[in-house]
Amino acid sequence: MQVYFIGAGPGDPDLITVKAVKALQKADIIIYAGSLVNKEVLQHGRPDAEIYNSAEMTLEEVLEVMETAVKAGKVVARVHTGDPCLYGATQEQMDALAARGIEYTVIPGVSSFLAAAATLKREYTLPDISQTVILTRVEGRTPVPDKENLADLARHQATLCLFLSVHLIDKVVEQLREGYPADTPVAVVHKASWPEEKVVTGTLEDIAEKIKEAGIDRTALILVGRFLSDDYARSKLYDPRFSHGFRRGQESAGT
Ligand code: SAH
Repeated sequence: MQVYFIGAGPGDPDLITVKAVKALQKADIIIYAGSLVNKEVLQHGRPDAEIYNSAEMTLEEVLEVMETAVKAGKVVARVHTGDPCLYGATQEQMDALAARGIEYTVIPGVSSFLAAAATLKREYTLPDISQTVILTRVEGRTPVPDKENLADLARHQATLCLFLSVHLIDKVVEQLREGYPADTPVAVVHKASWPEEKVVTGTLEDIAEKIKEAGIDRTALILVGRFLSDDYARSKLYDPRFSHGFRRGQESAGT
């Protein structure tokens, strides 16, 4: 049969796609990333499904479970947090399955950076403020290529979402200060969409202290940029003076 890579969403078990739920319902075996996936998500699966927590397994062990299951005609759901395409170590699994001739499908999920924007009720791409969103992390055990160092990315002053970095907040702030002004707003969202969700807001000057006071040292996103402030230009898309393919403007558009 086959393997489904499933984005479990950021935490709230309702923030999973209908397609992912259908795949979970078919699964004889569920392998989930136990350090982050909300176990309640697994309740979308069958009560008789065999469950493995990949946090306690090596890549080889995960592949072994998958291969044995598929050879026995079973369906496997491999459940990753948020969307599988971000910091999920999914490529190595997909490539290994392909090398073994095992079929797999990827079902996207709601990434935590999307859930965090919903929590904050903010838009990342405000006219005149930023039309670019950078998703990145600081170096941990996984290296970050030199060309992508945070101080260089900061020079764009784009909207920035930092994964896997909150425990290194002092280093983060120091590098960001090389590009963003000190009064740049920052929000830290801990466990977006979980019942214990927490939001801390500040600026590059005080955010490090504030999140230490709040005791946040993991499972959080650091969101940086002027999209968090209120001074932006309204969009052209809904401006009566501009027309586009779906709506004719009241006055002829200048550009
Ligand atoms: N694939 C996941 C990211 C996995 S890396 C996604 O698309 O969201 C794990 C990191 O994601 C955590 O260290 C944290 O920075 C972030 N993260 C995951 N879930 C989160 C949540 N509910 N709230 C805030 N950050 C979260």
